[in-house]
Amino acid sequence: MELTCLLVKPDGVADAHIGEIVAKVEREGFTVRGLRLLVLTRSHAEAFYAIHHGRPFFEDLVEYMTGGPIVALALEREDAVSHLRTVIGATNPAEAAEGTIRALYGRDIGTNTVHGSDSVENGIREALFFFSERELAESGTVI
Ligand code: UDP
Ligand code: MG
Repeated sequence: MELTCLLVKPDGVADAHIGEIVAKVEREGFTVRGLRLLVLTRSHAEAFYAIHHGRPFFEDLVEYMTGGPIVALALEREDAVSHLRTVIGATNPAEAAEGTIRALYGRDIGTNTVHGSDSVENGIREALFFFSERELAESGTVI
């Protein structure tokens, strides 16, 4: 079993897609091990996206991610990280495969509805960013 982190970004929450996104990942065989609605502070958003610090879109990304509530999920499945990336689709919704979350709901390359972890290591790191080890263990997480 593998753990990954899915975020419904502020546009996904504002456009009322939380339920459809959770239903889709459950249909794809993911088990929800953590689920929380919250507003990121600037310092939390900067820490979460630290890898992108200095990139031209970093400021806009932090502004966007702190602009309204998000929903954080810890999801478990075999091959969770790569399968979630497939379900999410390409970063730019215009290039995302048909039926993926970003193709269905994304507005543009910056405002693209969801985040998904990009490696097994980051899946664990990002799940632990939003949920404690105790919460994940009590929800039945296998890792
Ligand atoms: N982003 C952007 N412009 C770009 C690349 C990325 O605004 O040219 C934003 C977008 O919201 C994206 C996030 O920064 O989801 C993180 O970028 P990354 O390259 O990690 O894409 P992802 O892993 O989300 O597909
Ligand atoms: Mg990424």
